[in-house]
Amino acid sequence: METLLLQNTKKDILRAGEILHSGGLVAIPTETVYGLAANALDGAAVAKIFTAKGRPQDNPLIVHISHIEQWSRLVESIPENAKALAQAFWPGPLTIILPKSGIIPDEVSAGLDTVAVRFPSMRTTRRIIDAAGVPLAAPSANLSGSPSPTCARHTMDDMRGRIDAVLDGGECNFGVESTVVTLATPVPRLLRPGAVTPEELREVLGELEIDDAVLGQLKEGVQAASPGMKYKHYSPKAEVTIVKGSLDGFVRHVTRETSENDGGKNAFALCFDGEECVIPLHCVTYGKQDDSLTQSHRLFTALRELDEQGAERVYARCPSTEGVGMAVYNRLLRAAGFSVVTASNE
Ligand code: AMP
Ligand code: MG
Repeated sequence: METLLLQNTKKDILRAGEILHSGGLVAIPTETVYGLAANALDGAAVAKIFTAKGRPQDNPLIVHISHIEQWSRLVESIPENAKALAQAFWPGPLTIILPKSGIIPDEVSAGLDTVAVRFPSMRTTRRIIDAAGVPLAAPSANLSGSPSPTCARHTMDDMRGRIDAVLDGGECNFGVESTVVTLATPVPRLLRPGAVTPEELREVLGELEIDDAVLGQLKEGVQAASPGMKYKHYSPKAEVTIVKGSLDGFVRHVTRETSENDGGKNAFALCFDGEECVIPLHCVTYGKQDDSLTQSHRLFTALRELDEQGAERVYARCPSTEGVGMAVYNRLLRAAGFSVVTASNE
């Protein structure tokens, strides 16, 4: 299949809408990452997303809407706390899970009785949904396991020949996927951190639990509340280790490791801007140390650059886990397959 590259023009947005309306797949820009979209009300169209991505069948999709009025058809009912969240954060990078209505195909919810819905803020995304005339189911537009794409080139790299079209809307603003919160539990629960922070959610909801899978690895046999969080994910081909501690400790750690253990491997550092001059390895940077938003914007691109540069072994500086930093750490932890060490002080 030839994959069309569409531009952010009225004509091409209408073309994307037609393809989606007739059951095709189009990768679309959003303010978080590029999404691989299909008509959310057409189970056969949605099934093609899983094939194109190689996505496990038990991992449900987020449904994207362009007007808040579309929400009520998708869910059983909209409780007051859901309305308050929508009022505070929509349109924007927040996904809200509620019990689903009868029109949601099983392919979207992967057999669960809930559905995740998001109202994105990027104008182009909303225009594409309008052009399609239906809500769009869209997971991130990467091959399953790879870093999510944050520009059209990365999307094309993964999806060329697998889908009908990619619409180029430029670089994504946030660069990590939406915050996912479920209101289908007795107490609202954060399933995936994103640009809307736990502190901001608590201000609206009063109470919020953080799912165990957010900052750790689920134990064998424990069922994941958000199936997507149980997989190794966002990974470059290289083996990644997060090294906690100071910059000095990091430098000592990688110096020792690369001389003792990794001598033959092409070792890289994934570090913060400006640290390249003191780290004795090839470096790829991912934003400023004290600025989580620059890190979220850069992280997935940096992981892809490591692949492009042939990294086999990557030592990553550890981000702050405060605010948006929780999302950055959550993604990096999965890219590292949960491999974290602490640099000693000597
Ligand atoms: P992606 O579309 O790649 O950003 O992945 C969507 C994420 O939302 C995955 O981690 C899913 O497991 C999660 N998700 C989607 N729908 C639900 C749902 N109904 N219940 C729990 N998690 C969900
Ligand atoms: Mg994804």
